[in-house]
Parts: sequence; C-alpha cells; structure tokens
Amino acid sequence: MPEVLRPARGTKLRDGGAATPTRMPGWLRRPVPRGPQVERVRRTIAHHSLCTVCESAACPNRLECYSSGRFTFMILGDICTRGCAYCKVAVGRPLPVDQGEPERVAGAARDLNLNYAVVTSVCRDDLPDGGATQFARTIQALRDWNDHIMVEVLIPDFRGSLSELQIVQNAHPTVLNHNLETVPRLYRQLRPQGRYEWAIELLDRAKSISPDTPTKSGLMLGLGERDDEIVAVLEDLRRVRCDVVTLGQYVRPSLDHYPVQRYLTPDEFSWFEAVGKDMGFSQVAAGPLVRSSFAAAAVYESVHVSRNVCHEAESGRLSCEDRRCQ
Ligand code: SF4
Repeated sequence: MPEVLRPARGTKLRDGGAATPTRMPGWLRRPVPRGPQVERVRRTIAHHSLCTVCESAACPNRLECYSSGRFTFMILGDICTRGCAYCKVAVGRPLPVDQGEPERVAGAARDLNLNYAVVTSVCRDDLPDGGATQFARTIQALRDWNDHIMVEVLIPDFRGSLSELQIVQNAHPTVLNHNLETVPRLYRQLRPQGRYEWAIELLDRAKSISPDTPTKSGLMLGLGERDDEIVAVLEDLRRVRCDVVTLGQYVRPSLDHYPVQRYLTPDEFSWFEAVGKDMGFSQVAAGPLVRSSFAAAAVYESVHVSRNVCHEAESGRLSCEDRRCQ
C-alpha cells in the first residue's frame, strides 16, 4: 500500500469484492432527458448523421449536459471492435471510415456554436492506423471552421502503437485524454483486448511529445477494484505526469453487462479526490456521476488557470509555496 496523505475524515480502506449490491442508490438517479435544449442537441446530431457517446452509452448526465449545450461526438461509427464487459456500445464489424464525417462534426459544432468540442471514438482495431487519421482530420475540420475552438480528444490505446498517437498529436488537440477505465488486475477480465501498460505508455509518450498539452485519464469505480489499487493507479498516472483525472461510479448499462460490485458514497469519492489532489494532479473530478467528458471545458479552464498561476510563480510575480507543476 503506497503511503498517501489521508484526509482527516479517515475513510477506511476496504476490499472492493463485497457482495454485489442490487439497488442503485438515490444519488445516481437522474431525470429522463427531455426539453427544448435536449431536443436541439439531438436534432442537430441527427441532422448531420453523427453519433454521440452520450446516447450510445446512455449516459445519466444527458439532461444536465445537453441543457448546457455539452455532449461528446463519437466518430468512426457506432460499432466497436472490442467487447469490454462494462460498455454498452455495440460490438461487431464496423463500416468503412466515413470520409465526410470530420466536416459534418464541424457543421454540428457550427450549428450549436461550440467553443469547446469533445471527440471520442469506438475502437477501430480493424484499421491500419486505429482511426488516428480520422481524429486528426476532425480536429483540423473543427479548426478550419473556427481556429479558436478548443478540442479535447478521448482516444483509444491504438494497441500500443505510438506512431498513431503522433498522428493525433500533430493535429494539436487542446487536451489529450485516454481513460484507463479500471485497475490493472481487472483488465484481463473486463477489458481483455486492452493492456494497462499500453495505456500508461501512451499517456507518458503524449506528455513527452507535447509537454504543454494537458493529459487526462479516468477510472470507473465499483467494478471490484480495491481502494489501494485505485491509489496505486493514481500514482502511476502522476508518474507519467498526467494532469487531470476523473473518477466516477460504474453503472451497469443492462443485465447483459458486468454487475456493479459496489456503490461508492459521495464521501468516498471526496476522499479519493483529496488523495489525488495531495498527489499533485492539477485537477481531480470525482463523484458518482462524474464521467471523463463531464464539464470538460470547465475542467480544462481550471487547469489552465492553475498553470497560469504557476507561470506567474516561475516569473517571480507570485510566490507559491505549494508548487505542484512539473
Ligand atoms: S457526461 Fe459526457 S457522455 Fe455524459 S452526457 Fe455529458 S458529455 Fe455526454
């Protein structure tokens, strides 16, 4: 067990393998997403023949996100080549790459007047470049429309091939996100086509290629991981200079998916948030309903502000006794 600064509240570490809970706690229940803003986002996405991970994964935050004009584009189709035990996205043989998709993403961003776009994809292990070129073309299409738009990409692991990462980085995303999703012990069971080592190396290399681009990663909790394993993953992320981490509750999308092993309380999420902040992440977003793309623009803004404070400290204009920047 690594040594960490424990907040005063002192939540005890416990084994994540407790009996499977059957009832979803009230703090995870959310209203059905309806209303004019929700319909506007849905209509625009449908008009441009696009997909969102919000719908494909039936995210519980849709009402809140759509009402604020936030959502996450899912490019490269809606069929994934991997079959992770927790994921609702359809698995199968995907369609060929849609060459017009990047321009349609830019069209939807224009129609909704986005200034911060979040773009993810299904895994495309069938493609020689894993879909990296489509990410780069999408970033470029968004910037062709508005060269001030900020673009956060949530990329797959490219099966550990770092040349694909370079293709994405060459397009200069504002934030580079790759989710670890769970602790290394559970990869074989829950994420059999992924490798924890690929994911960590990808984040490490991303920081080496582009030190000024914030990197971000996330975990779903409640899949059977122990608290000490979560802390160890946070330490791995800090070792590769990851800037932002998101921690949210896993919610079983259907009875065909992996059962929830535990529901963490809001206080337990607060405990992990404090642990992460003690470790030196620029931002830790932790809570039952936190998803890696939840309030992405606000999270980026907070990292940006804290970096500027550090730059001020470096230039001597501010004295900062608690510097955590790299
Ligand atoms: S949290 Fe992310 S996936 Fe969920 S609705 Fe918001 S933008 Fe979409």
